[in-house]
Amino acid sequence: MRLSRYFLPVLKENPSEAQIVSHRYMLRAGMIKQSAAGIYSWLPLGFKVLKKIEGIVHEEQIRAGHVPMLMSTMQPADLWKESGRYDDYGQEMLRINDRHDRDMLFGPTNEEMITDIFRAHVSSYKDLPLTLYQVQWKFRDEIRPRFGVMRGREFYMKDGYNFDLSKEDALHAYNRHLVSYLRTYERMGLQAIPMRADGGPIGGDYTHEFLVLAETGESEVFYDSAVTDLTFGDREIDYDSVEQCQGVLEEFTTKYARTDETHDEALFNEIPEERRRTARGIEVGQIFYFGTKYSEAMGAKVQTAEGEVPVHMGSHGIGVSRLLGAIIEANHDDNGIIWPEGVTPFHCGIVNLKQGDEAADAACESLEKALAALGLEALYDDRKERAGGKFATMDLIGLPWRITVGPRGLKNGVVELTSRRTGESEELTPEAAVAKLVEIYAGHRTPQGF
Ligand code: ATP
Ligand code: MG
Repeated sequence: MRLSRYFLPVLKENPSEAQIVSHRYMLRAGMIKQSAAGIYSWLPLGFKVLKKIEGIVHEEQIRAGHVPMLMSTMQPADLWKESGRYDDYGQEMLRINDRHDRDMLFGPTNEEMITDIFRAHVSSYKDLPLTLYQVQWKFRDEIRPRFGVMRGREFYMKDGYNFDLSKEDALHAYNRHLVSYLRTYERMGLQAIPMRADGGPIGGDYTHEFLVLAETGESEVFYDSAVTDLTFGDREIDYDSVEQCQGVLEEFTTKYARTDETHDEALFNEIPEERRRTARGIEVGQIFYFGTKYSEAMGAKVQTAEGEVPVHMGSHGIGVSRLLGAIIEANHDDNGIIWPEGVTPFHCGIVNLKQGDEAADAACESLEKALAALGLEALYDDRKERAGGKFATMDLIGLPWRITVGPRGLKNGVVELTSRRTGESEELTPEAAVAKLVEIYAGHRTPQGF
C-alpha cells in the first residue's frame, strides 16, 4: 500500500481528551475517530488491526471446535422478559421503541438470544455438545465511558455459548475455553493471566477473568509472581481430551491470582513475601459456567433416555476492541506504538529517503511487490517529505519492521532493515531483507487483513 493513496490522518498534537497512552496513540495514529461519547468509527489503520485480532480469535475458536455464527445486534425485549433480566439490567441497556411501539434493545450480550435459537432447533441430546460463538458489536450505556476503546459504549466482542448435557461436560467446555483463550492472547503478543473472578449473583467458583497487567488497568489484582512465568507456547493440545484441558487449567489457575472482588488476604499472605504482587490489570476476557439458569427459565431442554432435561450452559467473552488498547498499553515507547508481529496492521514499512530518485523509487516498488508475492503487506511511504517526518510517522503507527531505501545504500546494493522494538538496524541486500522478514513472520501467520 502506498501511503499517498492510503487514508492515515495522523495528528501532530496530543489530543487533550486522551488520558492514557493507548487512547492518545490510537487518535494520533489515525486509527479511530470518536463519533459520540464511547462510540468510535474505525479508520483504515484501526480497522486493519481490529480485523487481525478478530481473525486470531476466529482461528483459535475454530481450532477448539467452536462454531461461528452471527446474531443480530437488535433484540426484542420479550426474550429478556422471559429470562427475567429485562428489568435487572438497568440503565446500561439501550432500549429502543420501533414504529409499532414494540420494545427493542441493542444487545449488551446474547445469552437470551442464543438460548432462543437453541430451543428452536435442538431437541435431542444427540446434538450435544455444541458451542456457538460470534464476534459482534455490543452496546452498553456505560455510565463513564473512557480511555477510548477500552471502555466504550459500542464495542466489539467475541461471545461464545456452550450447550452440554451434564455439568461435567459443561466444565470440559469451560476448560476448553480457558485453553483456547490462553493461545489466543499469546498469539497477540500478550500475557493475559486467568484470575479467579466473582460469579456475581449467579455465584459459584466457575468464572475466570483474563487480565493483562498494566498500570492503567481498571482492576486491582493480587497474584503470586510465579504465574507470570507460565506460558502456553506452541504446545499441541487435543481439545477433546478432558484430561489435557483439565491439566492446562490446573497449571494456569492453581497459583494465587485474583481480582479485588475475590481477593483473600489470609490466603495471599501464605505466598512467600518476595513473590506477592499487587498490581493493576485490564480485563480482556471472561469465562463462565452458569448451569441451567437460562435453559430452565427459557425452556431449552433436550430429550434423553430418562426424559427431558435442561441443558448446562456457559458463556465466554473476549473484548476484541478493548484488546487494541490493551496491546498498546503493553507495547509502546515514547515515540509511539510497537505492534507485536501477530497483530500488526502492515508487516513492514518502506521508507524512501529520496522520493523521485529513479533507483530508489524502483527499489521500493520492487520490494513492495516481492513482499506481497510472499504474503507480506508493506506500507510504502512514497510521500515527498523529509526522512525525519517519515521515520516519525512509522514510529508512531508502530510497524515492527522498517526497510529504509536510499540512493547511497543502493549504490552498494543494500537497504536497511530496522526493528521498531530494539531500534537496531542491519544493512542487507533487498533480497536478504525480504528473506529475513519471511522468516520472522513464519511464526506469526495471521489471516490476511483488509
Ligand atoms: P467490565 O467489568 O470491564 O465492565 P464486564 O465484566 O462487564 O466488563 P463481560 O460481560 O465479561 O464484561 O464482557 C466480556 C469482555 O468484553 C470483557 O472481558 C471486556 O474485555 C469486554 N468489555 C466489556 N465491557 C466493555 C466496554 N464497555 N468496552 C470495551 N470492552 C468491554
Ligand atoms: Mg467480565
